[in-house]
Amino acid sequence: MARCLVTGAAGFLGFHLCQRLLAEDHEVIGLDNFLSGTKANRDDLLKVSGFHFFELDVLDCARGSKAFEQLRGMGPSYDEIYHLACPASPPVYQRDPLNTLAVCYEGTRNFLDFAQATGARILIASTSEVYGDPAEHPQPETYRGNVNTMGPRACYDEGKRVSETLGYLYAERGLAVRTARLFNTYGPRMSPGDGRVVTNFVMQAIRGEPLTIYGDGAQTRSFCFYSDTIDGLVAVARSSSAVAFNIGSQEEYTVAELADIVIEVSGKTLARVHKPMPVDDPTRRRPDTSRALAKLGWQPKVGIRDGIRQMYEFMSRDR
Ligand code: NAD
Ligand code: UDP
Repeated sequence: MARCLVTGAAGFLGFHLCQRLLAEDHEVIGLDNFLSGTKANRDDLLKVSGFHFFELDVLDCARGSKAFEQLRGMGPSYDEIYHLACPASPPVYQRDPLNTLAVCYEGTRNFLDFAQATGARILIASTSEVYGDPAEHPQPETYRGNVNTMGPRACYDEGKRVSETLGYLYAERGLAVRTARLFNTYGPRMSPGDGRVVTNFVMQAIRGEPLTIYGDGAQTRSFCFYSDTIDGLVAVARSSSAVAFNIGSQEEYTVAELADIVIEVSGKTLARVHKPMPVDDPTRRRPDTSRALAKLGWQPKVGIRDGIRQMYEFMSRDR
């Protein structure tokens, strides 16, 4: 049995990751400040023995702080730290961009320090946003990106790039740091109001409202079901390789095609409305995941229609 710490435990991926670690019989210490996570996720996790929760902001967890010592007090040492805490949806991370940047820098640094102090390895949840609006397609991990440093997405994109750099610097000092670049992931327990495209479309379809397509809908994303992403995240965390790994689906769809799929799954006749394209919205995105396949034996299994159906049914029940 390992002792694991998950930051962002009450969020979408944090919840599923905690469930997965608990199912493996590990002790899981979760923390979250509920910026975008929910108390319902926390309460469901607390029903499982072996789960402990702290309502904490990662910014308040600097070395020597009360929170740092409180978490350290949960055991003499930790085995695995999964650092997920960060606002992840564009409307949420753009609401308080300075906080987003601070969470990416100070929050990540605090948990790299925590890993160092407790002998743990640490997984940093990075993002495909480090590639910005990519000039290379699909994106291999060696692609260095095309990010605007002075735009509405910069707080997150540049923040995550700095998180990776921090991880690299601590790894240089001997810490076991692992980096997963997650591409768009969706599924049950996404917060219904988070503003991300899959959540919006599924909730709009459930309510019988028109689907909101930004721009002409020709921009692409590759949508990965949460169970595949969690498998990838854990495989990266436990791998012996310190390089960054892309974790995402190879299936690439335009936003307009995604709308069609959600409408098809809903079985309803629904309108589509077009809204302005957000500034710096990447025009295309698809990971090259050959590294994860070669080094980790990881590849996604769930197809888009199956995944959307599972999410649609969950969100319909949970409404
Ligand atoms: P989410 O918003 O559901 O989860 C993030 C969690 O972090 C929330 O519970 C939130 O309350 C918590 N949090 C935010 N700031 C915090 C702070 N200062 N202190 C403590 N907790 C804080 O989003 P998610 O999709 O589950 O994303 C989890 C991680 O994965 C994030 O780091 C995100 O950048 C990364 N990621 C997700 C995706 C995706 O498509 N889901 C893609 C790329 C990267
Ligand atoms: N999008 C959309 N309608 C929505 C929400 C988003 O057309 O209601 C588009 C958005 O402009 C982007 C894509 O869907 O091109 C994915 O957006 P999301 O916010 O999910 O994540 P991103 O990949 O941009 O971080």
